[in-house]
Amino acid sequence: MLLLALHASPLHAQTAADLVVRSRQAMGTHPETSRALAEQALDLLARQPDADVQLRARGLLCDYLTERDLAAAEAQARQMRELLAISRRPEAEAAVLLCQGGIEEARGASARALEMLEQAVSHAGRAADDEVMADALFQRGYLRGVQGDLAAGLADMRRAMALYEKLQQPHQAQNTLSGIAILFNRMGDAAQARHYFEASLKLQREAGRVREQLVTLHNLGRTLENMGEWAEAHKAFEEALQLARRLDYARGEAYALRGLASVRNARGAPAEALALLDLAAPMQQETPDARLQAQSLLQRGIALRQLRRPDEAADALRQALAIFEQADSLAEQVATRGELAGLLHEQGDWRAAYEHQAAWKAASDILLKRQLDQRYATLKIEFNSAARDRENELLLRDKAAADAALAQERRVGQLKLVVLLLATALAALLGVLAWRQRSSGRAMQVLAMTDELTALPNRRHLLGQLEGQLRGGAAPGALLIVDLDHFKRFNDLRGHLVGDEVLRAVAAVLRQSVRSVASVGRLGGEEFVVLLPRADIVRAAEVAEDLRRRVQAIDTTPWGMEGSPITVSIGLTLAEPGDDVSTVLRRADEALYAAKAAGRNRVVARTGAASSQQAQEAEAAIGAARPCPALPGAVALPQGAAAEGSRSS
Ligand code: GH3
Ligand code: MG
Ligand code: MG
Repeated sequence: MLLLALHASPLHAQTAADLVVRSRQAMGTHPETSRALAEQALDLLARQPDADVQLRARGLLCDYLTERDLAAAEAQARQMRELLAISRRPEAEAAVLLCQGGIEEARGASARALEMLEQAVSHAGRAADDEVMADALFQRGYLRGVQGDLAAGLADMRRAMALYEKLQQPHQAQNTLSGIAILFNRMGDAAQARHYFEASLKLQREAGRVREQLVTLHNLGRTLENMGEWAEAHKAFEEALQLARRLDYARGEAYALRGLASVRNARGAPAEALALLDLAAPMQQETPDARLQAQSLLQRGIALRQLRRPDEAADALRQALAIFEQADSLAEQVATRGELAGLLHEQGDWRAAYEHQAAWKAASDILLKRQLDQRYATLKIEFNSAARDRENELLLRDKAAADAALAQERRVGQLKLVVLLLATALAALLGVLAWRQRSSGRAMQVLAMTDELTALPNRRHLLGQLEGQLRGGAAPGALLIVDLDHFKRFNDLRGHLVGDEVLRAVAAVLRQSVRSVASVGRLGGEEFVVLLPRADIVRAAEVAEDLRRRVQAIDTTPWGMEGSPITVSIGLTLAEPGDDVSTVLRRADEALYAAKAAGRNRVVARTGAASSQQAQEAEAAIGAARPCPALPGAVALPQGAAAEGSRSS
């Protein structure tokens, strides 16, 4: 994965430097070609040494070997260290650290790896080398994600992406988008992750970038696995497997086989899962990747448990757990402990089962809390930077158009003296052009602010509005998060298209119900937001309850779901002095969680510390609202655990 790049040096080593550039380009397409080119470069350099080009070539080999042979990768790292003494480039140190960090990460020693990547980032910063910096940020962002530090990981990925764009390396930028999608998946926003992976896949297919394609397919598979979309997950892993075989890429093949095994386990075919894992075993031997090994062990444990071979299952799961613990990989620890607790329980080992259950609960609480915290921290970063970028872009474009028009006008002023008629015609033409420019700018802005599916304002728009209201001061009003209950069952029972229709129907009801007093929009997935400026808690609760009833009254017979109404849970909060966007959203989300936990189909309010006695009493009254009947076709609560993804390079 290590993307190493130091500047090429001129003159005699030109040919070797060219080979190195081509080797880097081949990393995303054909790893074997990349390795062969780097080795050719080193042959040339043996005759005409150039420390900087040699460092780059060895860095590429280090990257290749880190996935295959750690001892050989380490030999490259040692030789790179020796070259440091004679290199002229300040970024060389960062390059060596990237190689070593990659090796530690493959071993599953996440803490050491992170330390090295931190240093790599600071060396690259001191050397002011954009390319090494981008590579270091990408790698650190990925690792921070593994460790559950999602917002920091996302900030790194964003910086890496901006640098790759600046360097005009579109493939690297595209890979970084996949890296961002992996983080979204870990945050529990699988739908968004899927969207990014599918977009990447399309571009990689068109460009024939086979290795990247297979990595994206695998990541897409993991996301679908997380969403419980088994048929689609199977398809993605199967295609990844075919591509890995075509490239003779053992690591890719092992990852794809693990994915297929997981699908088999989910479908209750543990014997087939075991056979697939056995098939993957020799390829895993060729791949020094501790977390891959642990993930396979986890699937093996799940399969053996289903096959009623408890001792072997417990053995596999314990081994997996030890590796995940060493790698600080919280989501996977949660999954493994849950499985172990269930298994020990079946065996009647109550005490050990209880201990794992308690550890599972503690870890999944941390995970859930982190996901929530990070989700809002991220929303904020994302909103701030994306909205600003977009606004800047529009402003720049507007300004460019205005400047151009102004310059033209000045010239027209001079011409006017000479040919008055011509000048008038020209001015009219410019007017039309400027008008067009402005209206297309406006259309773009509308597009950027609208949710495609429901035509409601999107998250960016809403959060912007909320921020405006909060800045406005005095009595900013209330906010509701409206989340469909067990929405997944519509997708599962009637397919995605019906799911989309349900979302549109709910959107229409929300829009009609709150028309003039409020604004309503889609936060993402099956979550909507309603802003009620100037509403107090009593008024907001009335509106929320009214919305809840109206949604429940939607006729579901056209979708063959008669007798199974759509219901929503609503989290309500008041914006209070001193609040910012993320605190308001977080409070509303906590209220929503409470509404879900209390049985769904209800409104729960939560106010902050600054609220009056009256508001808190009202909150208590709403919070204790009536129970609701169980839903037919209800499904279990989604699990907090985020999925895992193999990284892209
Ligand atoms: P809960 O009551 O706990 O909220 O359960 P839920 O099923 O509503 O929530 P969960 O978060 O488990 O599932 C949300 C689902 O919404 C998962 C995803 O496939 C689906 N989804 C998200 N965006 C869209 C979309 O645009 N269209 C369709 N059809 N489905 C979507
Ligand atoms: Mg939801
Ligand atoms: Mg829901």
